[in-house]
Amino acid sequence: MFNRFFPDRYVASTYVIDFEKLYSEGVKGLIFDIDNTLVPHGAPADERAEELFAKLKRIGFGCCLISNNQEPRVKMFNKNIQVDYVYNAHKPSTKNYMKAMEIMGTKADNTVFIGDQLFTDVWGAKRAGIPNILVKPIHPKEEIQIVLKRYLEKIVLHFYKKSLNR
Ligand SMILES: [Mg+2]
Repeated sequence: MFNRFFPDRYVASTYVIDFEKLYSEGVKGLIFDIDNTLVPHGAPADERAEELFAKLKRIGFGCCLISNNQEPRVKMFNKNIQVDYVYNAHKPSTKNYMKAMEIMGTKADNTVFIGDQLFTDVWGAKRAGIPNILVKPIHPKEEIQIVLKRYLEKIVLHFYKKSLNR
C-alpha cells in the first residue's frame, strides 16, 4: 500500500553519497532539490555545498537544481555554484524533471535525483522514472504545511524500513 512512495535509497545526508561510484556506474546527470537537501531552508550555498559541486563538475556530472521556490531564492543559492536550474518547478509534477534531463542531455536511466521530501521530491522522480535518493532534511525546524507532510512521511518510512529488514 505504501511501497509506491518508497524511495530507491534513503541516506543520512547528500554529503555522504558516493558520487564517484555513481559516475562509475554510468550516471551522468544529477538533479538536486535545494532546501534541506543541500543547505538549510532559505540559506545561501555554504562552503560544503560549493565544494560538492566543484567536485561533481570535476568528475564530469551534469547538474541541475529543481526547486519549487521562486527564481530569486534559486539564483541566490546558485551564485557561487553555477549549475543549471529550474525554479517554480511544481514538484511532484514530472514536467520539470524532464526539463532538467533535457538541459543536461541525459535520460532517466543515467540520471539520479536527490531530495529530502517524499511526497514532492521522490514522488515526482519516481513518476518520471528517475532513480532517486531520499536524504534526511538538514534542518528539522520547518513550516507547518511541511510538518504535516513529515508526519505522513514518517508513516511511509516506517514501512519502508520494515521492508528493508525483511
Ligand atoms: Mg527540500
